[in-house]
Amino acid sequence: MTARICRLHAAHDLRVETEPMIAPGPEEVQVAIAAGGICGSDLHYYHDGGIGQIRVREPIIVGHEAAGVVRKLGEGVHGLAIGDLVALNPSLPCGACRFCDRAAFNHCLTMRFMGSAYRMPHEQGMFRDILTVPARRAHRFANPVPPRAAACAEPLSVCLHAASHGVALSHQRVLITGAGPIGSLMAAVVAWRGAADLIVTDLHDYPLSVARRMGAGRVVNVARTPDALAPLRAEKGQVDVVFECSGAPAAIRDALEMLRPGGAMVLVGVAGETPLPLNVLVSKEIRLIGTHRFHPEFAEAVRLIDSGEIDVTPILSHAFPLEEAVAAFDLAGDRTQAVKVHLTFGAEAP
Ligand code: ZN
Repeated sequence: MTARICRLHAAHDLRVETEPMIAPGPEEVQVAIAAGGICGSDLHYYHDGGIGQIRVREPIIVGHEAAGVVRKLGEGVHGLAIGDLVALNPSLPCGACRFCDRAAFNHCLTMRFMGSAYRMPHEQGMFRDILTVPARRAHRFANPVPPRAAACAEPLSVCLHAASHGVALSHQRVLITGAGPIGSLMAAVVAWRGAADLIVTDLHDYPLSVARRMGAGRVVNVARTPDALAPLRAEKGQVDVVFECSGAPAAIRDALEMLRPGGAMVLVGVAGETPLPLNVLVSKEIRLIGTHRFHPEFAEAVRLIDSGEIDVTPILSHAFPLEEAVAAFDLAGDRTQAVKVHLTFGAEAP
């Protein structure tokens, strides 16, 4: 028996191939994948052969946002049944290093993050129609959630972690720069956390329309109406918190002008090297906060999607069957018409 897989051999060399299925061993489950979301990092691997220092050095099965249906249970698996819809947590920290010891699991020294080219050999990913994983990666849904929504547990975890750094959001004015999948999910989290005023910016109208459906009170196309934000720069800045989800140097500089003294900017987007006006950061006593992945937030993301407390469906823009993976990757990079693009696999939704 073979499974179909989506494997990247080099930049712009994405192939649908087959591999033998692996039977689940003790404490493992075999999952028939239903949907897998294409992430910005997958797109960097596809278009550029890597991100910054991380390079694709051997063929890698891509994908780290997937949900599917439990197909087989290994010995000793409790709490899961055949037919359960599950989202798979790509994060698997060692539990023993000095960062795991202090519950900073996302900084684990030997993290096994699926679909990542960080280590050699690369950690293989989730874009395959049958996948066997440790059962602790599988988080079950109790309700009939669409598999593509279930697959958004991973990016939603990123946003929940970004909102976990001790920054107050309730009754605050929050600016989110960038309305892609992360910016739009960030909008849902910030709205859920009770922000009083939530503004989302982008260069394109389509993702802004999605951000609005995800909870943004105001959306601004900074390419068409750059002056719309001018009032937010008044009196040293009117914004309490910024979630920077664009990775765009111009957006970062603009947002610093809109932050009030004592405000915080959480950097969710990844910009690489970029000049920053440190005088503004210093004189306004701005807190600049990095955020990286997640770990315990994955279970919380599943709970929020399962219960309907956060509705992720507005970001689901397109789905392509696995055999059209190249078309899916090409479209996923088009910000004018796509937000979250999924590959779909054979599994029937429960
Ligand atoms: Zn560790």
